Amino acid sequence: MKILVLNCGSSSIKYQLIETDQKTALAKGMVERIGMSSAVLVHQPKDKEEIKIVGEILDHSIAMEYVIAVLLSPNHGVLSDRNEIDAVGHRVVHGGETFSGSVLITDDVLRALRDNIELAPLHNPPNLKGIAAAKEHLPNIPQCGVFDTAFHMSMPPHAYLYGIPYKLYKRYKIRRYGFHGTSHRFVALRAAEVLGKPYEELKIITAHLGNGGSMAAIKNGKSIDTSMGFTPLEGLLMGTRCGDIDPSIITYVMGKEGLSISEVNTMLNKHSGLVGISGESSDMREIEQAVSEGDKKAIYAFNVFTYRIKKYVGAYAAAMGGIDALVFTGGIGENSVKVRENVCNGLEFLGIKLDDELNKKPVGEAVLTTADSTTKVLRIPTNEELVIAMDTEQIVKNK
Ligand code: ADP
Repeated sequence: MKILVLNCGSSSIKYQLIETDQKTALAKGMVERIGMSSAVLVHQPKDKEEIKIVGEILDHSIAMEYVIAVLLSPNHGVLSDRNEIDAVGHRVVHGGETFSGSVLITDDVLRALRDNIELAPLHNPPNLKGIAAAKEHLPNIPQCGVFDTAFHMSMPPHAYLYGIPYKLYKRYKIRRYGFHGTSHRFVALRAAEVLGKPYEELKIITAHLGNGGSMAAIKNGKSIDTSMGFTPLEGLLMGTRCGDIDPSIITYVMGKEGLSISEVNTMLNKHSGLVGISGESSDMREIEQAVSEGDKKAIYAFNVFTYRIKKYVGAYAAAMGGIDALVFTGGIGENSVKVRENVCNGLEFLGIKLDDELNKKPVGEAVLTTADSTTKVLRIPTNEELVIAMDTEQIVKNK
């Protein structure tokens, strides 16, 4: 099947046209600066030259028109008719408590998505705009929603409830949701396949470390805990997000610095994490460079980053009553030899013996531990678009 995968942000649409039989992207690209003076569409067809179009793109509907036009273009396209697209799969950030799996988008689903807008005010409205634009330009083609939160809906109440008045959960749905669900699910499944063991019988800890980062405890194929919570701010130290902090810091800093709610939100989301501690960069490659030059604050940032991942490994091994595999993914998880080394160093008591040579080998799926390591450490490149395409195919086939 040919599935168009869409990831719509407030001023962008990322897309991939995926052929599910071969599990390959026939074309991928992105429209950026939608609604601004000069929008840009970059389109990369498989085995053909990349093209870039700059122009005025006022809204998501016009952006979709451009995307379909380049997919159909005689020189740069990969389709001769839009009806060759079998289905559209949308990445939707927040499914709230309503969705524990991917779904066909119906009017009821759209209503439920609108009900969840308050939980993800920055993400769900552009996702809805993308769905409307795709419906407008591909009216007869089924559309599916794949949620970042859905995989974590299997968390038990003791993992998702916060220690705040229960009525706030009932009134405002304040609980832990977790994100990056498609990635955690994909890499855990792949890890089981690489190890040749049944996914439903394994205790797997996944670490998705990109600009945002989260970990998940996956026991017998189900997420039983994850480090992001009500929003993606909780948990690990990230590029610009603080992760776990004492909540009293917020009111204290607001008082001391005279910050408004929105200013403190910006501080915690944009000026904290690696960039906050190092004062240099949110980019792990630059942090590692500064660490190698002996920069004290970069060393602090790097160490807080890896120490926190290590603590979560310990916590999740305890939560699952053991650990069979630790999986690294995301830009940092897949590429940083030093991050994996620092996290695993000292975890020998959990049966982890990283093989230094294997850990240094670049790219691709790999087991990075020695043969006698009872717990395996793996690098599995994530592919969220492929998960969305495969889920969409499944839903359309069973329709
Ligand atoms: P996003 O979450 O935006 O999808 P990515 O998964 O692409 O981000 O991850 C981006 C992060 O990966 C950046 O911090 C970047 O520095 C880091 N990264 C990429 N390559 C390397 C590398 N070779 N060594 C260390 N970090 C890397």
